[in-house]
Amino acid sequence: MEAPALEAPAVQMPVAPPTIVISEVAAPPQPLPPTPTLLLGDWLLTHDLPQRIKPPALDLSQLKFVPTLPAQQVEAARQRGSLSEVLLDRVWVCPQCRALPSFRPACPCFGSGGVERDRMLHHFACAFVGSTGEFQVSDEGLACPKCCTQRLMVGTDCEYLDGPWRCTDCDWNTAELEIVGHCLKCGFRFPAQQAVLEDLVGHHVA
Ligand SMILES: [Zn+2]
Ligand SMILES: [Zn+2]
Ligand SMILES: [Zn+2]
Repeated sequence: MEAPALEAPAVQMPVAPPTIVISEVAAPPQPLPPTPTLLLGDWLLTHDLPQRIKPPALDLSQLKFVPTLPAQQVEAARQRGSLSEVLLDRVWVCPQCRALPSFRPACPCFGSGGVERDRMLHHFACAFVGSTGEFQVSDEGLACPKCCTQRLMVGTDCEYLDGPWRCTDCDWNTAELEIVGHCLKCGFRFPAQQAVLEDLVGHHVA
């Protein structure tokens, strides 16, 4: 039998890749530096100060006090000797970024303000003190879990007491809360004693 003639292998024509249409992508717009929103510190001018004194303003995007007059103008006036500076007030600021914090009673562990106080009940007759949940054992009202007296009346048989504070963030239990600063800009939490005291100075150019 004659061997079949070898056919020349079919030449695979390269398939042209599908044309990909790249739509022209516009360059992303360069973000403009944010325009500071200034809250003028007129409330700082309390004690009959002359109106020409420019109090600092609160930059709401930075939560920092900034001078109202341009820095160059202040510096030029300082060099001419025609600048007066008046201490108007002081503020506590964040030790990390110098923005304004809030100060609140908080968990001494991590400084969370999410704290709740448990209510306790004190049974006069047997002196037992426990959480309100421990007393609510019967349908007929409060019953003391220690001496098993039923139908306790608040005020007559027992009284409410303030229990320890409990942190809803870390479950820490504490009798006393601490005053903790919480920076409204960078979120840093710190003991109130670590806050930095900053001068609020008004400027006047003669
Ligand atoms: Zn900060
Ligand atoms: Zn009791
Ligand atoms: Zn906590």
